[in-house]
Amino acid sequence: AAKTNNRTSFVFASKTINQDVYESLALKTELAYALDHNELSLVFQPKMEIKRQQFVGGEALVRWNHPELGFVSPDRFIPLAERSGQIIQLDWWVLKAVVSQLTEWQRLKLPLVPIAVNLSMPTFTRNHFVDDVATLLAESGIRGDLLEFEITERVALGDIKKTQAVMTELRKLGISMSIDDFGTGYSSLSYLHTMPISTLKIDRAFISNIETTETKQGITTAIIAMAKALKIKTIAEGVETAEEQSYLATLGCDQVQGYLHSKPLPPKEFSAWLIPGIHYSRCAAMG
Ligand code: C2E
Ligand code: MG
Ligand code: MG
Ligand code: MG
Repeated sequence: AAKTNNRTSFVFASKTINQDVYESLALKTELAYALDHNELSLVFQPKMEIKRQQFVGGEALVRWNHPELGFVSPDRFIPLAERSGQIIQLDWWVLKAVVSQLTEWQRLKLPLVPIAVNLSMPTFTRNHFVDDVATLLAESGIRGDLLEFEITERVALGDIKKTQAVMTELRKLGISMSIDDFGTGYSSLSYLHTMPISTLKIDRAFISNIETTETKQGITTAIIAMAKALKIKTIAEGVETAEEQSYLATLGCDQVQGYLHSKPLPPKEFSAWLIPGIHYSRCAAMG
């Protein structure tokens, strides 16, 4: 009976692996279809300056609502798209959609804030990326300082010479650069300080329950001190409670983003944030 069991579990295990491979292949095909048939959409999450409790920008996040599979998480399809190379098409779709959304808000005469776009390594290092961005801006009439690019440490430190060159060119277009998920990668500030980076986004892992977790306090204090010395702004990701925000304020963190203020919103709802005075901070008593 033991043997049968072992064998059964072996067959089961290999089936699961095949199932995974099959699912990834199927998902890749589905993603290709989605990219060609506009099945992707964007949501936008506000960024808040802590001291003045002021809305200072937003981050665009891609959403995929598959007709049969339903909502597919970016944590599932972004890594897949990075492996398959589809990420270049995806990131470009997102960037174009953000610029066209900004154009629409501008047409409605709404006051605009910079919108951040997440870029993967293949996008950032591909040929003609900067030229294509320059053309996109010129054709839309959208100012470069209304765009921010978020890349991870892994991307920034992948090919340092290349990254420095690309960032320098993007800065000339007015676009600012931030490091996403900071603290989870190499954290090699000796290299990062040679790049025109405006903001470090402190990873959510160090933020949740920071007010009661000493190790997180230590790491975040060090990151903020380092950033200040280099005249780089800091924003905490995934801030969910007023306690976390208050603690971050005492550390001198500049901005917060997270469910405390708002989850990522569809364009229509996000645009309400662009109307002065329409949103009310849940933490108005602060600072
Ligand atoms: P990220 O850029 O670090 O984005 C932050 C993620 O945390 C988002 O997940 C956001 O919805 C979520 N989040 C925001 N506030 C909170 C909070 O208070 N609590 C919790 N638990 N989560 C919060 P999302 O949208 O699922 O995206 C996951 C990742 O997928 C992103 O991480 C980014 O790395 C990638 N991604 C998303 N959109 C794009 C895109 O257009 N292009 C590329 N290349 N990557 C993208
Ligand atoms: Mg991001
Ligand atoms: Mg992040
Ligand atoms: Mg992330």
